[in-house]
Parts: sequence; structure tokens; C-alpha cells
Amino acid sequence: MLDDYFQHQADLSDLECNLRCPNDCSAPGCWMADVIVEATLFDLIKLSRVLNIPVSRLFSRHCHLGLMNCEFDFRYKKVLIKLKKPCFFLLEKRCRVHGSKPLSCVLFPEYQQIKGLIPELTRNPILSGFPCLENPIVVSDQRSRALKKLRRMSLMEQALSSYDLFGVPSFIVDSKPLKKRLKKDHPKDRAFSIQDYDRLLHEMINAIGFFEKVMEKISALDQRNRMKNLFEILNDRITMRHLMKGLVRPEVVHRLENEHIKRLKRSLLSPEIYFM
Ligand code: SF4
Repeated sequence: MLDDYFQHQADLSDLECNLRCPNDCSAPGCWMADVIVEATLFDLIKLSRVLNIPVSRLFSRHCHLGLMNCEFDFRYKKVLIKLKKPCFFLLEKRCRVHGSKPLSCVLFPEYQQIKGLIPELTRNPILSGFPCLENPIVVSDQRSRALKKLRRMSLMEQALSSYDLFGVPSFIVDSKPLKKRLKKDHPKDRAFSIQDYDRLLHEMINAIGFFEKVMEKISALDQRNRMKNLFEILNDRITMRHLMKGLVRPEVVHRLENEHIKRLKRSLLSPEIYFM
């Protein structure tokens, strides 16, 4: 089951792909800390099988939990697994795990192109120097269909990964108390980067033992049975429909407090979440 799934992903990833990284590209997306690369549990399983490394070791060495902005409302951030930067798999401007890289790497920037998002992306100062965004990429109809399927797979993986680790398909946190705490801890700083937020997130979830619980769930994936079990859920249409609904329309946000995580009922209307 696992082999078939990843083979299908690999076939779709290669299908009529015309994207070639420009020679003058220094692979900024792979080393810049500001560019968030999400990895789902399924991306980690895929890499662990190719590299023959346990999922838990892969996570501890090359990933961390972090935050990204929610497009629908900047008061909120989403918790996700991020690749550490510079990415360990980058070797002399090339990806060492090209055939097994996370789906978010596979999709960029072709998916953003077919969705007409490139002009918006290039207005973001972080992405302004990306040579691959300077000229349009030729995307055939068949390639476009493959990218949409991969995007759907990616969203399903995100929803299930988040549900498995955090108990909700989209772990949204209120960033206001985090900002307040950062300001209190660093009164002289006027602006805070996403890395500052990530450090605070770690500090807080470590203090309440939440990170330890997440790590236990990741370590369980070192066992083949647990992996298989996760894939069975991914193939369960009813459960996945429910989780996808929760991913695109979160109804709960979380407030990280000193001793616990508080759940608050909220209806978030605009579903799209920033890629970076
Ligand atoms: S996995 Fe490969 S493509 Fe993705 S960030 Fe790392 S080096 Fe870049």
C-alpha cells in the first residue's frame, strides 16, 4: 500500500514536468530560514524509507515544529512541521532527495503558476530574488491535472498529519498572546520574525509537556504497523472528508498559555493558508 502510494506520487511528480531550476539559482527556498517548507508525516515516512532512517530520527535531525501565517486572518498562525534551514538535503544548489522530496517542494512554483499566484508571490520581498519566478513555466494540461492531484494529496496529508499529532486537522493558534510575550521578553525589539515566534512556541510547548507527547506520536511511526495504520486512515473517505472540512474551515483556535493550551470556538471563513 505504501509503495503504491509513493510510486503514484512519484509518477505524478514527473509527469510532463518542464520545470528546470535556472543555472543561476542559488536555491534560496532551500536555505533561507524565512521560506517555510512544510513536511507532513507522509513526507517523513517517504524519506525515511528511501534513506533507511527512522522517522523519529529524521524529524529530530532535520525538522522542527513551527508557525506560519494564516492568510485569512493575521491574528492567527498555524502550527506545522517545517524542514530546518538550510535544508540538510541541499547539496551544491541541488536537492539530494529530488525523487522523494516533500510535496510542498514538488509543487513549487508550478502549482502557484497554474493558480495565477506568481505576481502576488513576487511582491513578497522574501521571494523577489527567485529566478524561477521571473519567467512563466510551460505547464501542459496533463501536467496541470497532475499538479492539482498532488496538491489535493498534499492537503489530505497535512490534515491527517495535524490530526494525528495535535488532534485537529488544522492547529491554529492565536498569535496575540505570543506577540505580547515576545514584547515583554524583548522590550527593545520592535518587530519579531517567524523564527522568534518558533522559538517561543518551542519554549511554551516544551514547558507544558506537549512537545514530548508529539514526539511520542512521531516515534511510533518508526514501527511499520503504525505507518500502515496511518495510511489506512488516509484511504478512509469518510474520515478524510471530515478532516478536510476541518482543514479548510477550522472551527477551533488555540491559545497557548503558561500551563496549558486553551481551545476556543471560532468560525474561520477564508480557508486558504499561505504556502510561505
Ligand atoms: S527537500 Fe530538496 S527541494 Fe526541498 S528544501 Fe530540501 S533541498 Fe530543497
